[in-house]
Amino acid sequence: MTANIVLLPGDGIGPDVVKSAVDVLTRVGEIYGHRFNFTSKLIGGEALRQGLGALPDDTRDACKASDAVLLGAVGDPSFDNRPPAERPEAGLLGIRREMQLFANVRPAKVWPGLEQSGPLKPEILAGTDLIVVRELTGGLYYGKPRGIEPDGSAAVNTMIYTRPEIERVARVGFKLAQARGKRLLSVDKANVLEVSRLWRTVVTEVAKEFLDVTLAHELVDAAAMKLALAPSKFDVIVTGNLFGDILSDEAGAICGSLGLLPSASLGEGPGLFEPVHGSAPDIAGRDIANPIGTIASAAMLLSDGLGLAKEAAAVNAAIEHVLASGLRTADIAPAGVKPTGTRAFTDAIVAALA
Ligand code: NAD
Repeated sequence: MTANIVLLPGDGIGPDVVKSAVDVLTRVGEIYGHRFNFTSKLIGGEALRQGLGALPDDTRDACKASDAVLLGAVGDPSFDNRPPAERPEAGLLGIRREMQLFANVRPAKVWPGLEQSGPLKPEILAGTDLIVVRELTGGLYYGKPRGIEPDGSAAVNTMIYTRPEIERVARVGFKLAQARGKRLLSVDKANVLEVSRLWRTVVTEVAKEFLDVTLAHELVDAAAMKLALAPSKFDVIVTGNLFGDILSDEAGAICGSLGLLPSASLGEGPGLFEPVHGSAPDIAGRDIANPIGTIASAAMLLSDGLGLAKEAAAVNAAIEHVLASGLRTADIAPAGVKPTGTRAFTDAIVAALA
């Protein structure tokens, strides 16, 4: 396969971790006979510093024309006092909107050997390997009317979903479930919200297209509780924008360091793959960032973006292999274990691929 991949390294530790993922993808290409053409483009603070907008037109056009996009991180405290449209984050929101990425896919998995690094008891955390699919472009965050009364006496937001919006994100959830444990949990608040009742009806209808997947429904409050009590019982969760925002962070947090978590944002066209963490200015340029979140995002790029499931599995196996060998970056190193730097950790994963 030949694939054109746009890289958006961005700010802070973004360039370091994207370089790690490119090294891994390049090695995958060599081993499996694929040609990955990488083109690097500006976004966020990097673009602003060059006198451009946070999402230059050239970046937007290249992303839309690509086969997949790999993003590092966006965010730079030196722009904190600028208005929202002139801050690095405008680039991130802009590219998600421009590429019409309606489904945010956030796996939360405990890598073998890292059960101790999460906040839950290791025996509860063991075996956790779930995915939260969050609707990303609708719901409460975009519904109109919205606003605050000028005198500050009241404020309103609107939760709205249309049938097609629910159908398309439900299909993403069903397809992911089909490729793994074949269980999909749809999370809503159907005992209180009309929007959730429509959500439940439509997801149940879409289920008829996926007869090999078992669908269940859960109220969001119960789902949040069960995630903390028994995370290993979940397979794939699909939910709306608001509930997904909260549940995906909860699921990520129980798995340990932010540096471990990958994500994919999918639409009808190319997908955008990025680690969950931000630009981590406190550790930028020190060769201590954990590259696993970005390398695992590259694995999602291979499977969900390019349909290369075998290659993605090989990348995840290489990460597991390196963790099993005892290497740890600073954020996940227990007391007494000397941390391995970003570069050396990446080199170990590249070597493990072979
Ligand atoms: P952050 O995720 O950058 O960092 C939070 C903490 O986690 C820091 O202590 C950091 O050192 C640590 N951390 C993050 N990634 C790590 C990694 N790979 N390895 C080891 N440790 C890691 O969040 P923040 O500090 O709240 O935000 C910093 C900047 O990033 C802000 O400008 C924010 O707007 C931006 N941000 C961007 C994104 C994104 O690009 N998707 C997401 C969140 C925050």
